[in-house]
Amino acid sequence: MDITQFSVFENRCLVNGEWLSSEETLAVSNPLDQSVITTVPVLSEQIIEQAIVDADIAQKKWKNVAPNERSRLLRDWFDLLIKHQDELAAIMTVEQGKPLKEAKGEITYAASYIEWFSEEAKRGYGDIIPSAASSEILVFKEAIGVCAAITPWNFPAAMITRKVAPALAAGCSILVKPASETPLTALAIAKLAEQAGFPKGVFNVITGSSTKIGQIFTQSPLVKKLSFTGSTEIGAKLMAQSAPTVKKLSLELGGNAPVLVFNSANLEQAVQGVMDTKFRNAGQTCVCANRIYVQSEIYDVFIEKLKLEVEKMKMGNGLDADTDIGPLINRKAVQKVEEHIADALSKGALLVTGKTENTEGNWCVPTLVKDVTQQMLCAKEETFGPFAPIFKFETEEQVIEMSNDTEFGLASYLFTQDINQFIRVSRGLDYGMVGVNTGLISNAAAPFGGVKSSGIGREGSKYGMDEYLEMKYVCLGNIN
Ligand code: NAP
Repeated sequence: MDITQFSVFENRCLVNGEWLSSEETLAVSNPLDQSVITTVPVLSEQIIEQAIVDADIAQKKWKNVAPNERSRLLRDWFDLLIKHQDELAAIMTVEQGKPLKEAKGEITYAASYIEWFSEEAKRGYGDIIPSAASSEILVFKEAIGVCAAITPWNFPAAMITRKVAPALAAGCSILVKPASETPLTALAIAKLAEQAGFPKGVFNVITGSSTKIGQIFTQSPLVKKLSFTGSTEIGAKLMAQSAPTVKKLSLELGGNAPVLVFNSANLEQAVQGVMDTKFRNAGQTCVCANRIYVQSEIYDVFIEKLKLEVEKMKMGNGLDADTDIGPLINRKAVQKVEEHIADALSKGALLVTGKTENTEGNWCVPTLVKDVTQQMLCAKEETFGPFAPIFKFETEEQVIEMSNDTEFGLASYLFTQDINQFIRVSRGLDYGMVGVNTGLISNAAAPFGGVKSSGIGREGSKYGMDEYLEMKYVCLGNIN
């Protein structure tokens, strides 16, 4: 499939309403066979710095555009994403590798944030607070200003709309640096934003050296907020870099999600839940099951059922309709999964199904291993691949302790039919999100985010706009 012929295809950057190319470029390749699809610009420091200045000028006008008009433009952008869903999904599959059915699902999900915030654009309510003195306390909610976003490759569309839609709804302008592996989905989405009619400079997409762009974003006093989704390591680095200019930050970082399957669980539901959370996007999601804890009474039967489902999965080209699992993003990702499997097996875990060595290219066979312990690498680090390690536990207290024994706190899951247990365990888990009897928790109406080293702030929901707004307290004195 030649995605370069699509009407939404774009390989130049959108900067202050203009499409820019550059002499120096970055190659974008297909993880299926490493063939080069196209190249994207490496923008110079001077262009990026000017882009921030122009975004500041644009924001000063944009914040005064009536909320209804901002809402209408977002709605038009949403409609365009849905209209071009098939092309956008194919671009995503070709540059990222995920199966087309998942890519289509991601476009729906990405668009849902635009729809949600097109509605929230009209609801930037302030407050009037009664005061004991002869005064009134007024609270205005105002757009924070120029924002910058840096996004990962695992959700090339949704991680962008989740930031851009609330920023634009709030009256901010925004510059986005997508992951170098997946800039084409971002640029196609920007092309549709341009068609929707956003004024020049309010939404910009720039590509190039991540280190340089990160430095320019964090050092600029004009950039008031940075929203980052990616690894904890880079998030912490950007946080430190942002300190001198005291920026507002949203950080959506790494996870190490536990799945707790209790004796009382509905086994079919639990197996389906683990399949959903473990193998979506070939296990390359931040909310992906990283550790699967199964209570002793159902341990063997659960593993048997899960094994049958894992063995049914078909690996292949994401563009083929029957593919369940595509290639990983790059060879380094495969090596990390293999390292985790080898470490577990060398420390006494047992292979249930899968292939552990001699893989080729970016392929990684879904692998199930049992009798895993807290001492193994996969208990401590995010694997980010199709490897499902199963741990055995005896008691509720023990599994809560094991689940919380990590620096991360993004998503967690539990399967039980016992209502008291579901409340107790949900309260006991030190995580920003808990899925109960489901492996699918993402929703534009829900506050997405983590605690501990998994990040700061929430995206989506009625809380999502607050990340792009400042409160201004106005004291109205002598009203008697
Ligand atoms: P990553 O290496 O941290 O990269 C993320 C983004 O940061 C990319 O755009 C990357 O650019 C950029 N970057 C890298 N080094 C930088 C630097 N020194 N300064 C500024 N920007 C820099 O993470 P990843 O491997 O793409 O994504 C996987 C990670 O993201 C996992 O840990 C996953 O859990 C996390 N994630 C979290 C969430 C969430 O909501 N919590 C969602 C999705 C993913 P280049 O591509 O150009 O290097």
